[in-house]
Amino acid sequence: MTDSYRHKGLRKQLINTLRERGIRDEGVLEAMLQLPRHFFLDKAFEEWAYQDKPFPIGKEQTISQPYTVAYQTSLLNVRKRDKVLEVGTGSGYQAAVLALLGARVYTVERQELLHKRAKAILQRLKLGNIRCYLRDGYKGLPEFAPFDAIIVTAGATEIPKALLEQLRVGGRLVIPVGTDAQRMKRITRISEEEYETEDFADFRFVPFLKGVNRE
Ligand code: SAH
Repeated sequence: MTDSYRHKGLRKQLINTLRERGIRDEGVLEAMLQLPRHFFLDKAFEEWAYQDKPFPIGKEQTISQPYTVAYQTSLLNVRKRDKVLEVGTGSGYQAAVLALLGARVYTVERQELLHKRAKAILQRLKLGNIRCYLRDGYKGLPEFAPFDAIIVTAGATEIPKALLEQLRVGGRLVIPVGTDAQRMKRITRISEEEYETEDFADFRFVPFLKGVNRE
């Protein structure tokens, strides 16, 4: 895996595009400038890595569009040392962005093949603070709760109760909710009993599915 000057130049252009499209969080933009997105795609598709587009990663799943990663991560307001749960590891790219922001990352994936691939690439990158689990993320990761932030990167039809319960008071859940298209929502736990919901833009995600697939 090499990260050439050419890759770095393409990455800089991509970050400028994200800025033009309205991403303002400099911490997030800096992390994405550092991280070689082409490491998360098959070598044959390197050329596609720096377009602002989603891309197939196998098992009918996609690595999210860079704009979507930047948008969701900005909403999450990650601070250094935050304990963050990601549901939908996919390629591992989003988990790596969170780790570069200083988060302690727990990421779960239901497709065994993608889980294994992501785990291998994240180990090679030596980011250190990422733990990968093959699980149904619908249930969250109760043994490591509570989390400062939870990010769901698949389109949910409902907000899983387990995820709300696994938020610390003051914690944020960023989740796209809907059937055809999904509305990005941020739910903040404001007390043991109370949650506050904010609505943002519409996106299209691969579906949030139940159970683990070991094929
Ligand atoms: N964050 C990823 C985007 C992956 S697409 C990236 O940066 O590349 C969404 C992923 O969510 C898919 O890999 C899909 O298999 C996974 N997924 C869907 N439902 C899930 C569930 N219930 N638990 C865990 N992962 C799930």
